[in-house]
Amino acid sequence: MPELPEVETIARGLDKRVVADTIESVWIGSRKQPLKSPAGLIASTLESKRIVRVHRAGKHIVFDLEPQITSKTKKKKETDPDLSVETRLAASPSSAKMTAPQAKSQHQTDVQTAQWIVHLGMTGRMVVCETSAEIAKHTHLIAKLASGRELRFIDPRMFGKLSVHSGGFDPGGVEPLEVSEERFVALFRGRKTPIKSALLNQKLLRGVGNIYADESLFRAGLRPRRRAASITREQLGKLHRAVREVLREAIALGGSSISDYVDADGEEGFFQLQHRVYGREGQLCLVCNTSIRRVVLAGRSSHYCSKCQK
Ligand SMILES: [Zn+2]
Repeated sequence: MPELPEVETIARGLDKRVVADTIESVWIGSRKQPLKSPAGLIASTLESKRIVRVHRAGKHIVFDLEPQITSKTKKKKETDPDLSVETRLAASPSSAKMTAPQAKSQHQTDVQTAQWIVHLGMTGRMVVCETSAEIAKHTHLIAKLASGRELRFIDPRMFGKLSVHSGGFDPGGVEPLEVSEERFVALFRGRKTPIKSALLNQKLLRGVGNIYADESLFRAGLRPRRRAASITREQLGKLHRAVREVLREAIALGGSSISDYVDADGEEGFFQLQHRVYGREGQLCLVCNTSIRRVVLAGRSSHYCSKCQK
């Protein structure tokens, strides 16, 4: 299941590939499970839209869209006498008087922004390919691009989600790569839940999953079951740094394997951060040679070193 660093890597890769391209038409399959907005609404929101930016919000991939400038509009702009240099100059004194809020609201009416939100779930993939590429099994959406390529959403297990939003999509929680130490401490301080559960709580931090929670706790020297309320201010500061460090390292590694994930129809090829505890039950701690333990916490496996973590 892709976690924050993978989603960040995928979003960056998609941004590089499809930004400024226009979605000409959309095909949506008959399976309803991945659709979190009605199929008709997804199609009408995506069609004839220019992709302004692709970015990540939590574990969601967000496509910022705006209406394409049609050749008709362009032509009108070129020939419209209202837009000649003279008239523009003549009009400038009055437009200069326009107050900032007015200018902003006018811009908002002029440009109808929209967002396409993709959550990959367990097995979802976004593929940018040539139109001639064979359509993989479990393809649920195909967006035909003006560049002649296609953007396809493939998801065998259908835990992925496709939806559209009118703009300003906010999945809730605080972005772990942007949160200040002060805010981070305030989020966790005094909570009675185990720190691992608090780290996985998407209403607090968004996008931290099981692997990176375990790795962050190891680096901060905290056991997963430790009550958040019992952790000192200083230790929370250490955890704040550990979370960001682990995510940034994983993003840096992900950058080199992006083409596999976005393009290929085969294996998902992320170079993974070398896990120090996650998935290493019974193996020796890389720091102190103690056997790594595994406990189940709220149905999820947690891995830790009983000597390095307190
Ligand atoms: Zn250890």
